[in-house]
This record gives sequence, structure tokens and C-alpha cells, in this order.
Amino acid sequence: MNKPVWLKDYVMPTTKEEVPFGASNEAGFLVFKNAGFRSMKPSINTDVCIKCMMCWVYCPEGCIDKTGETLKIDYDYCKGCGICAKECPKQCISMVKEDEA
Ligand code: SF4
Ligand code: SF4
Repeated sequence: MNKPVWLKDYVMPTTKEEVPFGASNEAGFLVFKNAGFRSMKPSINTDVCIKCMMCWVYCPEGCIDKTGETLKIDYDYCKGCGICAKECPKQCISMVKEDEA
């Protein structure tokens, strides 16, 4: 099978400085979209968020976008693990049922 043109090769770090800290992928750069198994999804109360970025650091999918005024979650790639909600020091991330707003 030919490699898709958008698929990036993983470059093995040679020094500890090259090891990525936090999310190693920018939002929207993961290979596979959510497969539909997610039953809960995170919802950020941006009025309470202090932009400490703990959720961004711990998100294993790198799907929290910090480029805008407020944080946004790329639900195409969020797997609903809830780690961001667990790590948020302000408890401003709630896990809500998939079919809730
Ligand atoms: S961990 Fe909580 S307070 Fe910190 S940036 Fe994320 S949502 Fe905001
Ligand atoms: S639920 Fe998991 S995958 Fe989704 S944004 Fe939070 S930490 Fe990332």
C-alpha cells in the first residue's frame, strides 16, 4: 500500500531535548478520525478557564487547539478519555454525553 502524502514519518529523537513535551501533534494532524466509539466528550467552560494548558499537555491525542482566544477541542480526533477533565486544576472541563451539546 502506498503511503498517503499527508502521513508524516516519525523521526526518532537522538537527544532528550528533541523528545516532544506535551502534545506532540498539532490539532488536526492525527492520522485517524474518531471511529465513533466515543460515548462521552469534554466540554470546556471557557469563562472559568485560566489557560494554564494542563489539559493541552496531558491530552494524548494532541487535539486541544490553543491557537485561538479560547481553547477548542477537535472532536474529530478526541477519543473521550477524560484525561483533560481529570487534570484541569479549575475543574472547568466536564465530560458530557456524546449527544449533548
Ligand atoms: S486545564 Fe483547565 S484551566 Fe487549564 S487550560 Fe485547560 S481547561 Fe483551561
Ligand atoms: S477527552 Fe482525552 S482525547 Fe479528548 S481532549 Fe480530553 S484528553 Fe484529549
